[in-house]
Amino acid sequence: MADTNGTAFDIVVLGGGSGGYAAALRAAQLGKTVALIEADKVGGTCLHVGCVPTKALLHAAELADNARDGAHFGVHTSLDHIDMNGVNEYKATVIGRLYKGLQGLIKSRKITVFEGYGKLVAKDTVEVNGERVTGEYIVLGTGSYARSLPGLEIGGRVITSDQALQLDWVPKSVIVLGGGVIGSEFASVWKSFGADVTIIEALPHLIANEDESLSKAFERQFRKRGINFNLGVRFAGVTQDDNGVHVSLEDGKTFDADLLLVAVGRGPRTSGVGYEEQGITLDRGFVITDERLHTGVGNIYAVGDIVPGLQLAHRGFAQGIFVAEEIAGLKPAGIVESGIPRVTYSDPEVASVGLTEARAKEVHGADGVETLEYNLGGNGKSQILGTQGFVKLVRQKDGPVIGVHMIGARVGELIGEGQLIVNWEAYPEDVASLVHAHPTQNEALGEAHLALAGKPLHAHN
Ligand SMILES: Cc1cc2nc3c(=O)[nH]c(=O)nc-3n(C[C@H](O)[C@H](O)[C@H](O)COP(=O)(O)OP(=O)(O)OC[C@H]3O[C@@H](n4cnc5c(N)ncnc54)[C@H](O)[C@@H]3O)c2cc1C
Repeated sequence: MADTNGTAFDIVVLGGGSGGYAAALRAAQLGKTVALIEADKVGGTCLHVGCVPTKALLHAAELADNARDGAHFGVHTSLDHIDMNGVNEYKATVIGRLYKGLQGLIKSRKITVFEGYGKLVAKDTVEVNGERVTGEYIVLGTGSYARSLPGLEIGGRVITSDQALQLDWVPKSVIVLGGGVIGSEFASVWKSFGADVTIIEALPHLIANEDESLSKAFERQFRKRGINFNLGVRFAGVTQDDNGVHVSLEDGKTFDADLLLVAVGRGPRTSGVGYEEQGITLDRGFVITDERLHTGVGNIYAVGDIVPGLQLAHRGFAQGIFVAEEIAGLKPAGIVESGIPRVTYSDPEVASVGLTEARAKEVHGADGVETLEYNLGGNGKSQILGTQGFVKLVRQKDGPVIGVHMIGARVGELIGEGQLIVNWEAYPEDVASLVHAHPTQNEALGEAHLALAGKPLHAHN
């Protein structure tokens, strides 16, 4: 163990976001001395300006929709107004509780936190506030920032998710540039809060990384909600004045609104932190690692959004735990990227794990894949909730289930079972023999597997 009287530790973690703090917590649990260097607040993007605040907004949005729709269930309610200060207070309370809990956890594991901007100045040293903090191992987890497009400046009425989360008013109209997960979630929130929303997406579909059947169903439901979108044409430019933003596309179309949200992806925060100077390979800013998350330089590992792949908090947690265990010599099993669950928390929700049908056919051949769609129309709880959607299973022919894809209210809560099925390489018959509680939405997963195993219950075929 390194000498902790000075500033030498077993492990120095640069960046206290999902990836970094998970590495620190697990390493401390394994008996290592750990320094965690954080420029802003431990918890990082996810806790302060990402997952948690957006999901709080989405919950408030759901309440607004429920208030509007009460009569549909015989409960006569109406929506008075959205008080953004009240919404923001609720959001801040949620974050505050989690932040306090996380700080307590870090303290209880005796992790030394350095508050300040750190820079890698040697293969085993990070400099922070003029102090050199040395570690036998270094874990880089400096995370990501909201990207923009070349020539598209953020400022005034042109905002990213960071500013969108601070708004204390509901815009009358918004243009969302980018129909990926973050753009779609904000579009969903603002529509529920009463704004007129238009999404501009250069790709042919919204949430284009999902199975095409989910993207199409998602578009249908967004259209039904009155969320406008323009697909397949690139953004050309924006001007702004006191009245709003004026956006033009490459095909000459123009759109006006109060605000433009730029949600075109997140870039790695890796410049100016000394990575390249120490010989670490960057590709378009991302840190290149081997499958054990080692950078190939000294004892330096990388975790989270700076490593190419899915930019998700739970991937960061998993990578952080993995690296701590790797350093401790526990030889953990590698993380399979396709086995990481993905959720878009809008209305409707979209959740998936494993391979899409298209990807499965690339891997196993067109004849090597079987699919099945189970419509939520046959699921009692979904009917009670008044939601539409389906569960789509992708299986290797005569083999295990290799993809679970779902759309509908609350399906994000079902992906836990989906990921067990895919990651444990279950066969449809294995799942079909397990009893699912009635009436739950979870049952839809059970029914889909019954159908794929050749014995459908509440399904026409
Ligand atoms: C609007 C939005 C919604 C999201 N929703 C979800 C969701 O629902 N589910 C999900 O799984 N993911 C979601 N994400 C993604 C998720 O937030 C990220 O994948 C996750 O935060 C990545 O963790 P990380 O540790 O790699 O980086 P970060 O969380 O970005 O943390 C990096 C930390 O490093 C610090 N840092 C950077 N440079 C230095 C330096 N030189 N010195 C000291 N400290 C430094 C930063 O201050 C930061 O705290 C969302 C993201 C956004 C923006």
